[in-house]
Amino acid sequence: MFRKIMIANRGEIAVRIIRACAEMRIRSAAIYSEADRHSLHVKKADESYCLGPEPLAGYLNVHRIVNLAVETGCDALHPGYGFLSENAGLAEACEQRGIAFIGPSAAVIQRMGNKTEARHAMIAAGIPVTPGSEGNLRDVDEALEIAQSIGYPIMLKATSGGGGRGIRRCDDAEELRSNYPRVISEATKAFGSADVFLEKCIVNPKHIEVQILADSHGHVIHLFERDCSIQRRNQKLIEIAPSPQLNETQRQLICNYAVKASAAVGYTNAGTVEFLLTESGRTYFMEMNTRVQVEHTISEQITGVDIVREQIRIAAGKKLRYQQEDIQRRGYAFQFRINAEDPRNDFLPSFGRITRYYAPGGPGVRSDTAIYTGYTIPPHYDSMIAKLIVWALDWEELIHRSRRALNDMEVCGIKTTIPYYKEILKSKPFREQDFNTSFVETHNELADYSVKRRKEEIATVLAAAIAAHAGL
Ligand code: ADP
Ligand code: ADP
Ligand code: MG
Repeated sequence: MFRKIMIANRGEIAVRIIRACAEMRIRSAAIYSEADRHSLHVKKADESYCLGPEPLAGYLNVHRIVNLAVETGCDALHPGYGFLSENAGLAEACEQRGIAFIGPSAAVIQRMGNKTEARHAMIAAGIPVTPGSEGNLRDVDEALEIAQSIGYPIMLKATSGGGGRGIRRCDDAEELRSNYPRVISEATKAFGSADVFLEKCIVNPKHIEVQILADSHGHVIHLFERDCSIQRRNQKLIEIAPSPQLNETQRQLICNYAVKASAAVGYTNAGTVEFLLTESGRTYFMEMNTRVQVEHTISEQITGVDIVREQIRIAAGKKLRYQQEDIQRRGYAFQFRINAEDPRNDFLPSFGRITRYYAPGGPGVRSDTAIYTGYTIPPHYDSMIAKLIVWALDWEELIHRSRRALNDMEVCGIKTTIPYYKEILKSKPFREQDFNTSFVETHNELADYSVKRRKEEIATVLAAAIAAHAGL
């Protein structure tokens, strides 16, 4: 097993990996920017190294990180999610310097990180993909021609995109014309590539993804699926495992597709295959994420498998400890992404000092975070500051337990998405397990949770004013 792992990330996922290292008796080495000097991952790791004053550059510098790993005697590197996690250059540099990269091979990352190449690989493997352009688009005229033939609405997407960015829906030719240069510019800025492609927009789809684990001895298993349909602007907010919206036949089909897809590309380590489920029940491959995902936690809760631990074991060349039949699922789990955003103000980021943090506990409740009382959230990074994960034996119990945990959780000093999630839990379609990726935009009223309270406040002020007046 490894002696020391370099953690090329920050925030909650760095802490998550440090925890796995500690349980496996492996030393952990953290990296941090000046802005992250007081971050929890720096305190929790066995060793930590400052990358300088730039808030982002250090976390994105392949050579600096790999050199540091070599210099400090690390024999493996975990990239987490975001940052360099899907950068084939990092995997390659690790390979060259004799550091085990905890993820798939550079070749697989390269191929799957390119959405058009991934689509080709899936078509070759016999997996249904969303109808769309065969490869990247040459120009707007080609885009218009293809869109005309598959029919509007279409999705224009950055080939190297991720994190829900670089995607735009176009309902007609005019929209396609105006969005085309915008997506190209977004793609160039965010992902350093101007490549874009288009696919049919599936109206009101469900986002279903399958967690897979593959070792370097040719074994691939799945840990069932997650339903990530509760999204805002293509970004996930609440994730659910397993999906309450699939029947057993659909579940088998989609999980088998994921295993087949992973085997077909020679995938190793943990990964996720994402699908869209149409209103009529058809399944289409969307993309593959070649890293640990933010929402891996809920698959851990329903199966009992520690995914990060398995990632480390797989990278060390060990065989999977489980056959598919050994993987049993039990109950349901939710993950709430607690973002430092004001849901009442169009989810405007709300950074600042956490004056008080209280993590809820009790049965079936887990909080993965890097915040603590007194911590100041730096404005340079993602707004997700904590993940609240709740497990229960059945759906009804899960709803009640989640409400209880969200009520218990305290994040003071900044605005968060907690009150918004409490409203979602009250909503009838959500409770009745009937939702798709349009849920958030079609339920605007849920972000207005304070209307009743505001009315009460106004009533109180009025009553006080009347009383004061009467007293005069
Ligand atoms: P998941 O697929 O694990 O649900 P998200 O899509 O929410 O994760 O992305 C997790 C983090 O990684 C976010 O901070 C997101 O901005 C970042 N991210 C994901 N893909 C990319 C990418 N291709 N380039 C840059 N950042 C990315
Ligand atoms: P990312 O790499 O940013 O995660 P994805 O390709 O996974 O991008 O798409 C992100 C989200 O956008 C999906 O979860 C889904 O809600 C929506 N989406 C993507 N493609 C389509 C499509 N063809 N039709 C409808 N919705 C889509
Ligand atoms: Mg995706």
